[in-house]
Amino acid sequence: MIDRNPSQQRIAVIGGGAAGFFGAIAAATPHTRVTLYEAGPDCLAKVRISGGGRCNVTHHCFDPAQLVQNYPRGSKALRGAFSRFQPKDTIAWYQQRGVKLKTEADGRMFPVTDDSGTIIDCLMQTALRAGVTIKTRSPVKQVTATHPGFLIGLKDGEVSCDRILLATGSSPQGHRIAKSLGHRIEPPVPSLFTFTIKDAALRQRSGLSMNPVDIKLKLPGHKKPLIQTGPLLITHWGFSGPAVLKLSAWGARALHEQGYQGTVVINWLPQLSQDEVRAKLQQARTDGGKRAIANHNPTPAPKRLWTYFVQRAQIESQAQWTTLSNKAINKLTQELCQGEYSLQGKGVFKDEFVTCGGIRLKEIDFKTIESRLCPGLFFAGEILDIDGITGGFNFQSAWTTGWLAGQAVTTRAS
Ligand SMILES: Cc1cc2nc3c(=O)[nH]c(=O)nc-3n(C[C@H](O)[C@H](O)[C@H](O)COP(=O)(O)OP(=O)(O)OC[C@H]3O[C@@H](n4cnc5c(N)ncnc54)[C@H](O)[C@@H]3O)c2cc1C
Repeated sequence: MIDRNPSQQRIAVIGGGAAGFFGAIAAATPHTRVTLYEAGPDCLAKVRISGGGRCNVTHHCFDPAQLVQNYPRGSKALRGAFSRFQPKDTIAWYQQRGVKLKTEADGRMFPVTDDSGTIIDCLMQTALRAGVTIKTRSPVKQVTATHPGFLIGLKDGEVSCDRILLATGSSPQGHRIAKSLGHRIEPPVPSLFTFTIKDAALRQRSGLSMNPVDIKLKLPGHKKPLIQTGPLLITHWGFSGPAVLKLSAWGARALHEQGYQGTVVINWLPQLSQDEVRAKLQQARTDGGKRAIANHNPTPAPKRLWTYFVQRAQIESQAQWTTLSNKAINKLTQELCQGEYSLQGKGVFKDEFVTCGGIRLKEIDFKTIESRLCPGLFFAGEILDIDGITGGFNFQSAWTTGWLAGQAVTTRAS
């Protein structure tokens, strides 16, 4: 049993990830006794591997209205939450604890050390200094509401507490606990993944990229295609890069329903209209003369990508430009402006992935991140049906909901 000092509220934080730590630290006051239960041998395991080991802590975007546009799920609920704790506050929070963040050209923010260990050390030391008791290898099996308070089932018995902050990420056990306390779960499915395209000639071009491209994702049974613009990277498995990852996030549920099968349509030259591309190719026919089509590339695409487009248009790459028919020019225009690729599965984006789905947001009061169904139960982080695109947005929602829930859990009247 947790020792009882009657003047202190006993708060149990379940889950030692980004959200659990932020919540536990915010909840630790002279009037509370905070215990954090982590199932694994180490806390903050995802923080360690995040951002390729560098931890993309947040994003350089300080307007809540703009910030929420990076969340395929949860944007409405986060609007108010970000007006109370947003990236500026995250930066200041870390700065006050001696961790400086830097901004990269695309807006992603990392510790200046480029080492996720800096973030882990900061969170760990801050939690310990604040008096949080951290119990690792302590998976919570079940939680029973005892009105007032809760009983927490651990492998070696039960402990009681006054309030709970459930921050178990995408873990099925956390979902089961929430369900047992009356909550409904939006089914979890992956988000932030790459597209598998089975095309040997494309894969030979692995490592090449184009920026920007327009990508359209057409799924069976969905009238409206999803569209994204941005950099695209060709990989050994198909397509990756920011535009693809964004599509995977916005289309996470629909893609899951369709078994990750569909059609990807790429406009490789979105700065030009289709007529302008055709005119460019006609001009190249005049200028290129007797040169081989492979050796005179009128597009900004790298040469190896250009020869791929030529191949897809079923044009002999060693043929002379002068011999190119209007029909062939039309086919090449089609490949450049509306190239169709068959999506045949998803791959892993190693730098970041996240789960779409979780606790239904309607069942939560977003001022406090407290359950509307079970008083004294609070949530934070990825357990909620909130997820962002890649770029530091997922941690930002963990910091924000963790901080808000941690503040509220201490102030709520019993
Ligand atoms: C490879 C990778 C890289 C990423 N990189 C980035 C990035 O750079 N920037 C970014 O914004 N986002 C990134 N993300 C996403 C980000 O890591 C998550 O959104 C974030 O960690 C969610 O925090 P959380 O605390 O809600 O959940 P988690 O970090 O998953 O923490 C939940 C914790 O709860 C514990 N737990 C679960 N069940 C129980 C139980 N029953 N009892 C006790 N403990 C339990 C788990 O062991 C875990 O430690 C990345 C994700 C991955 C997988």
